[in-house]
Amino acid sequence: MLKVLPPEIANLIAAGEVVGRPASVVKELMENSVDAGATAVTVSISDSGRTLIKVSDNGCGMSRDDAVLCFERHATSKISGASDLERIMTYGFRGEALASIAAVSAVTLRTRRKDGDVGTKVEAEQSGVISVEGDPIAEGTVFEVRNLFYNVPARRKFLKSDAVEMRNIVQEFLRVALTRPEMALRLISGGKDVYNLRPVQNIKQRIRDIYGMNVARELVEVNVNTTIVNVSGFIGSPEGARKRSGTQFFFVNGRYFRSPMLNKAVCKPYEKLISDGSLPAYFLYLTINPEEVDVNIHPTKTEVKFGDEGVIFEILMAGVRESLGKNDFTPSIEFDSVGNIPQIPVFHKNDTTSRSPYVPKPDYTPLFNPFDTPSYPESVRGSFHPEEKFLFEEAPAEDGRDILVAHGKYILVPVKSGIMLIHVERARQRIFYERYYEKIAEQQPIVQRTLFPQTVKLSAEDCLALTERSETVAQLGFDIRDFGGGSVVVYGVPEGFEIDESGVAGSIDALIAALCDETQIDDYRHSVAVKLAESAAATGRKALNHTEAQLLVDSLFACREPNLSPSGHRCVTIISTEDLDKLL
Ligand code: ADP
Ligand code: MG
Repeated sequence: MLKVLPPEIANLIAAGEVVGRPASVVKELMENSVDAGATAVTVSISDSGRTLIKVSDNGCGMSRDDAVLCFERHATSKISGASDLERIMTYGFRGEALASIAAVSAVTLRTRRKDGDVGTKVEAEQSGVISVEGDPIAEGTVFEVRNLFYNVPARRKFLKSDAVEMRNIVQEFLRVALTRPEMALRLISGGKDVYNLRPVQNIKQRIRDIYGMNVARELVEVNVNTTIVNVSGFIGSPEGARKRSGTQFFFVNGRYFRSPMLNKAVCKPYEKLISDGSLPAYFLYLTINPEEVDVNIHPTKTEVKFGDEGVIFEILMAGVRESLGKNDFTPSIEFDSVGNIPQIPVFHKNDTTSRSPYVPKPDYTPLFNPFDTPSYPESVRGSFHPEEKFLFEEAPAEDGRDILVAHGKYILVPVKSGIMLIHVERARQRIFYERYYEKIAEQQPIVQRTLFPQTVKLSAEDCLALTERSETVAQLGFDIRDFGGGSVVVYGVPEGFEIDESGVAGSIDALIAALCDETQIDDYRHSVAVKLAESAAATGRKALNHTEAQLLVDSLFACREPNLSPSGHRCVTIISTEDLDKLL
C-alpha cells in the first residue's frame, strides 16, 4: 500500500540533502549573509559545529513576516519566475536551506531591517516556528543553530572526527573569503579567532591575509580572456607545490566548485617541474555566461557542468602554461624530446641549493635510511620468524649473501622454490605501519629529536588540526610545541621521518594530512598509522646497500603481516623455478 510520508519525515529526508554536516550549515548561512548584502560576517563555532554554529551579519535583515516565512520550504526572496533560473547570480535560490536546517536542529533567528522597526526573534525546530517575539537587535541578522542532528542519530554518528569537521568548516569559510575580499570575515572556534580577515582591495591581499606572505609571494598571475571564458587569478610557483591538497580553488561566477578534470588542466603544465603527487597552489576565477554553466546539479554538491568542458580545459591549461613560462618557471630543456633519458627529472622542493632555474637532476633524493637510526627497536632488529608469519614456507637465507637490489625498487632473494621478490616501498610501509600502530597503542612513542628545534609556519587551519589532536600527535612521536602565531616549534618527529630542516616541514605536512584524512571513520589509529607509514616510506628512496636490504628483509619478516602493505597491496611474491624455466 502506498503512503504519503508525514511532513516531518519528508522534511527530515529533504534536510539530509542540504545539510550533511556542520560545514553545510556554515555554507548556507554565510551564503545567505552574502546574498543579504552584508559587509561583515562573523561565524562562531563550538565543538566543531556539533553544539553551536552562529552566524552574524550586518546585511539587509528581515521583516517580522519574512523572519517567520523564511523557515518555510521554498520560501525565497531570490527568484520569482522560471526565467530567473537561467540568470541567477546569488548563491541560494531554492528556499530550502533554512527549512532544512531547522528540521535537524534548534534554530534561533534574530533580525532587523535597516529601515526597520524593532527587530524580531524567531525560534524554529523540526515542527516549524515555535515562537516569535520582538527583539531589539542591531541591524542585520544572527542565526544560531544548536545541537545539530539531535533528532537524527544516524547522521550524528556519520560525522567524522572534530578535526575533520572543523577542517570542512574552515574550507567553507575560506571559499567565501576568497570570493569576497571586500567583506570583513571572522571565524571563531571555541572562543578563539581562527581567522579575522579585514576587508581588502583585492584577492591577492586576501590570499596573503589567509595564507601568509610566504604563500602570497610565490604566486603568479593568470589572466586569459576569450569569448568563451575569462580566467583570472593566481597559481603557485612549482617549488611551493605540496603533497597535500588545501590550497586549490576554482570559482565560477563567484562560486566555488571542484573539478578533478580542470585540476588536471592546471597541473599538466607543472608536470616536469614538481615531484610526483605534489599539487601546486591555485586560486582561479572563471567568468562565464551563466547560461553556459549549470551550478545546480545538486544543492550540496560542488560540481558544476560546463557547456563545453573540453574547451575550458584547453584554455585553462594554456593560461597556466603561459604564466609559468612568463615567470621563468618552465624547465630550460623539454625533457620529452630528449629521447632516452631514463628518468624524468624531478624538482626537489627541499633542495634549497638549486632553487631555480629548474635544471635537470637525477631522480633520487639523498634519502633518509630508516635502517641506520639507532632508535630502531632491538626486538625488531634480531627477530626473524618466517615460519609462523609468512605464508610461503620459505625463508630467505639469513646470511643474505645472495640478496640483490634491483633499481632501488625491488629486492630479489633466492629461496628454495624460486626467487622471492620484495617490493621495497611497500615493505617499508608495512614495517613502519606496525611500529606506529603499536606506538599509538602503547602511548610510548619513539621520538627522534630534531637537530635544532625547528619552527614551521602553518596556516591557521593546520594549526587548528594539530591542536585539536594534540594527544594523538604526541602519541605518534611528534614533539610539537608553542602553537600560536601561525607556527609551531618541532622538537621531535617519529622515527622514519627526516629530522633535518627541510624534512621537518614535510613531516608536519604528512601528519596533518593523516590527521585530517577524510576516509578515517572508526579506526583512527589504523588510518593515522597507515598514512604516516606511507609518508615515511616515501620520504626517501636511496639505493639500498646490501646490509640495508638484508635488514629490510629481516624487519619485514618480523612483522605480523609481512605479505601485505598496510593498504592491502602485496609486499612479497615468489616466482617459482618452473615459471623461471618457462621464461627461457
Ligand atoms: P534561499 O537562500 O535559497 O533563498 P534560504 O532558506 O537559505 O533560501 O533562505 C530563505 C530566505 O530567507 C532568503 O531568500 C532570504 O530572503 C531570507 N534570508 C535568509 N538569511 C538571511 C539573512 N542573513 N539576511 C537577510 N535575509 C535572509
Ligand atoms: Mg540560502
